[in-house]
Amino acid sequence: MKIARYQNEGKECYGAIQNDRLLCFDALAKRFKTYLPSKIEDFISDQTAQKTAEELLKKIIRSDLVAVSIPLSGAKLIAPIASPTKIICLGLNFATHVTETKEKRPEEPVIFMKPNTAITGPYDKIIKRSFVKQLDYEGELAIVIGKKAKDVSVSEALNYVFGYTILNDVSARDFQFKSSQWTLGKSFDTFAPIGPYITTRNELLDPDNLSIKTWVNGELRQNGNTNDMIFNVAQIVHHLSRVMTLQPCDIIATGTPSGVAMAMKPPKWLNTGDKVRIEIEGIGVLENTVQEM
Ligand code: MG
Repeated sequence: MKIARYQNEGKECYGAIQNDRLLCFDALAKRFKTYLPSKIEDFISDQTAQKTAEELLKKIIRSDLVAVSIPLSGAKLIAPIASPTKIICLGLNFATHVTETKEKRPEEPVIFMKPNTAITGPYDKIIKRSFVKQLDYEGELAIVIGKKAKDVSVSEALNYVFGYTILNDVSARDFQFKSSQWTLGKSFDTFAPIGPYITTRNELLDPDNLSIKTWVNGELRQNGNTNDMIFNVAQIVHHLSRVMTLQPCDIIATGTPSGVAMAMKPPKWLNTGDKVRIEIEGIGVLENTVQEM
């Protein structure tokens, strides 16, 4: 299933994409006089809800589908998750990106975090503050955690994943490298556009072999594959869970392939009006325009 969160007639809803329509889970549950959580966060953490929804989707026929859905093209999609307890990010996790930055290949995952206030919707603006001079993009596969994970083994790790989405790890390089800690340059409001959908784990069986591409104003800048990751999805979840308890809806951005603005000669920093489009195989397209403020 591909699951999106959206606004419809002033109300927040969530549901699945079916035949170019967005099917509201609340309406679907009412139609079949059964229960599905009213919030996506509860759906993700409820270990039986996904199965219920999948069964209801099988039952629904074309005429019913129209009654409980809206056209995808007219929907205002918002970030699939608004306030996870954590957004954890990996730095230097793609071999090609390590090479372009002339850094050493990490022996341990390089970890930093973003605040949840950085989250913005899949088609919303990335706000570039006027005092930021070196704005960059990083197209990334993001893991969405589905159940509490503590000390999980590599072989068990994927069972704790609900699904996958796209995250743009927007970075102000001038702030990122002002000190030894990257946090500040990664944490401005709107520096974590996510979406447009969460593809559930059962639809993306091999997250470690997905094409990932980033365009800026139509120019292809990043053209990678998650098979270039130094630490794969299962290893990342295992590694983090030994340190911090991962909670349902937590987001883990897995690092970016080569092609960031910082590594270009000269760097092509993002400016107001620039459109960043990230596509990951099996998930969709995340597209945000920069606006200076
Ligand atoms: Mg990154």
